[in-house]
Amino acid sequence: MTKLVRGFRDILAPQSDYFTEIESAARRVFKLAGADEIRIPTVELKELFVKSTGDTTDIVQKEMYSFEDAGGRTLALRPEGTPGVVRAYIENNFAANSPVQKLFYIGNMFRAERPQAGRYREFEQIGLEYIGSAAPAADAETILILKDIVTAFGIKNYSVKINSLGCPECRPAYKQELVKYLKKDFDALCDKCKERLERNPLRVLDCKIDGPRIAANAPKQKLCATCVEHFEEVKNLLNGRIDYTVDENLVRGLDYYTRTVFEFQAGDGAQNAIAGGGRYDGLVKSMGGPQVPAVGFAMGVERAIAARGEIAPKTENKIFVISLDKTCNAKAFEIMYSLRVKNICADGGLFDKNLKTQLKAADKAGAAYALLLGPDELAKNIFTLRDFKTGSQKEIKFENIYTEVKSLL
Ligand code: ATP
Ligand code: MG
Repeated sequence: MTKLVRGFRDILAPQSDYFTEIESAARRVFKLAGADEIRIPTVELKELFVKSTGDTTDIVQKEMYSFEDAGGRTLALRPEGTPGVVRAYIENNFAANSPVQKLFYIGNMFRAERPQAGRYREFEQIGLEYIGSAAPAADAETILILKDIVTAFGIKNYSVKINSLGCPECRPAYKQELVKYLKKDFDALCDKCKERLERNPLRVLDCKIDGPRIAANAPKQKLCATCVEHFEEVKNLLNGRIDYTVDENLVRGLDYYTRTVFEFQAGDGAQNAIAGGGRYDGLVKSMGGPQVPAVGFAMGVERAIAARGEIAPKTENKIFVISLDKTCNAKAFEIMYSLRVKNICADGGLFDKNLKTQLKAADKAGAAYALLLGPDELAKNIFTLRDFKTGSQKEIKFENIYTEVKSLL
């Protein structure tokens, strides 16, 4: 038998219901905020991610599923949504026509990471890219939209961290200072961080092994006056609307962030981030578009579901249609299907099985009632309705089926 590929999963009910639930909650919140859905392709040219996600990131360095297609192009399965959305923004010439865009996406992402709880090779993200506004209000709005989705889905225990990484004016000096500090105790760094020091020193603060230890004593970013003003305004707009803490050591894993970054966390451990995001004012331009500022987030759906816990979604009360004899099958099928057409959840149809098996299936399916049709019933133009909860039965005339059933559910 051919088995599932390691790190990939089948998502079965009720898990699959939780996905639908969070996606619906997100869609409601996005619509209220005036965001439009964008559906981007799963596959892009690999270079798109190398250029945007950044070739110093773990994602590009070792987590990408890339391959050559028959036409000799080097493609990759998307590891995140932002590059595709920004590419679409540029290619569709939004900047010239309607530069301010709130675009949301819901889709699966692929990263060849070591599989573990909360870390999969295919996972789902719900994300927003608010492109075209440099205003602190856009940062605040983005964070509040994320909060609204998280609360609408029913996650209660989460915390929010925010920080500002500065801009091309003030960050280079900080990077230098940080490198100098880290070099003093180079040998104490983990192997990964030794590499990061060269490629992307800020990421050392985000190391899952000794990030917290280093961050505690490392020099802190000194923002320039405009970045301070921007960050203050973001915080003012958030105050009273969301609980958050400023974490000066919060850096995010991607290369493109500027100024505001944030993370929503639930619980502890290396897989505690349910969502993250930030401002990326330089990305659109660096990808070949005009100078357009932007801010966005991506939420990990699996982690959000784990953070909320399993709450069985409300199931619709259903009717299970049972036929007791070959001669009754056509009528039973007709009723089953006509109930569905009238918006009533009707299951069943296992007419080649005996009564006991059909009743067992009804129980498994969680049906509240069964409609039974045998030769006696058929002769009298009735169904027998069985209430599984009380065990009681009654007869219903064919022509009254719809109204009777409707009144029960
Ligand atoms: P982490 O530090 O946990 O690796 P990240 O910085 O790589 O996260 P982002 O690229 O910002 O994460 O993605 C946003 C969110 O997507 C994360 O906060 C997380 O909830 C989720 N996520 C990222 N990678 C995975 C994965 N391999 N499996 C499941 N969810 C993931
Ligand atoms: Mg990661």
